Amino acid sequence: MIEGLNVIVCIKQVPETTEVEFDEETGRLKREGIDSVVNPFDEYAVEEGLSMRERFGGRVKVLSMGPPQAESALRETIAMGCDEAWLATDRAFAGADTWATSLTLGLCVQKMAPYDIIICGLKTTDGDTGQVGPEMAQHLGIPHICYVNKILDVSEGRVRLTRMLDDGVETLEAPLPIVITVTKEINQPRLATLRGRLSARKAEIKQITSKDVDATPSQLGLDGSPTRVVKIFTPTPPAGGELVQGSPDELADKILEKLVECKVI
Ligand SMILES: Cc1cc2nc3c(=O)[nH]c(=O)nc-3n(C[C@H](O)[C@H](O)[C@H](O)COP(=O)(O)OP(=O)(O)OC[C@H]3O[C@@H](n4cnc5c(N)ncnc54)[C@H](O)[C@@H]3O)c2cc1C
Repeated sequence: MIEGLNVIVCIKQVPETTEVEFDEETGRLKREGIDSVVNPFDEYAVEEGLSMRERFGGRVKVLSMGPPQAESALRETIAMGCDEAWLATDRAFAGADTWATSLTLGLCVQKMAPYDIIICGLKTTDGDTGQVGPEMAQHLGIPHICYVNKILDVSEGRVRLTRMLDDGVETLEAPLPIVITVTKEINQPRLATLRGRLSARKAEIKQITSKDVDATPSQLGLDGSPTRVVKIFTPTPPAGGELVQGSPDELADKILEKLVECKVI
C-alpha cells in the first residue's frame, strides 16, 4: 500500500460541438456564440483521478491552460469532487501549439508538486492531436503511457495498468511519476452532486501566469510555437461514384478495367 497518491488531471475547455469551424484566413477556431465545456475525454481523466483517490487515498488537483473563462470548466471538476483547481492564464500563453502548450503545462505541474500521476484525456474534440500528454512527459523527463484502459495497482512507487492496442490489450508496469492518457473504456464519469456544485461556486481557482513559470517569453505562446498553420480547409467530399451492374464475372472485368484506367495496377 502507499501513503496517498498525488494526482494531477489536465483538462481543456473546448467548444460544445464536434462541428468545429475554422477561420480560413487566420487558421483559428471560430468560438463565437458556441458554449464551452470540459473536453469530453477529460471527464474520464477526472473520474480516474477521483477513483484513484478512493482506492489509494491522496489528493486530486486539476490544471487547465486557457483564457479566464476556462475557470468554469475547472469549477465543473470541483463539483465532481476534485480537491484543487489551477488555471494557467496569461496573454503570453496565447497562440500556443502543442509544443508550447505541453511545455507550459509541464512547468505548471512542477509548481503544483508533489505529483505521482498526471492524467490526461486521450485527445481533445477541437485540436484532436493527442500530443499534449506525451509531450508534457518529455518536457518533465518522466515516462508516459497512452491509451490506458485500466489501472490495476499502485504500490512501492510503481503503477501497473493495461492499455488498449489495435490488436489486443497490453499489461505494463512503470515507475512513478508518470503521465498517462486514458480511453473512454476506463470508467463511467460520475455526475456532479448538488453539494459539489455549491462548493464549486465558492472554490478558489489558483492562477498561474507567465511570471510564475520558469520560462523565457520566447518559449511561451505563439513565440514558443515552432509549428504554423499554413492553410486550413474542409476537404471537398469525393464525387458520387459509379454504380456498375452485371454478373460476378462482368463485374470483375469492369473493376479490372477501372483499376487499369486509373493506373492503380
Ligand atoms: C500546428 C498547430 C498550430 C496551432 N496554433 C494555434 C494558435 O495559433 N492559437 C491557438 O489558440 N491554438 C493553436 N493550436 C491549438 C493548440 O495547439 C491546442 O489548443 C493545444 O496545444 C492542445 O492541443 P490539442 O487540443 O490537440 O490537445 P490533445 O493533445 O489532443 O489533448 C490531449 C490531452 O491533453 C490535455 N490538454 C490539452 N490541452 C490542454 C490545456 N490547454 N490545458 C490543460 N490540459 C490540456 C487534456 O487532458 C487533453 O485531453 C495549434 C495547434 C496545432 C496542431
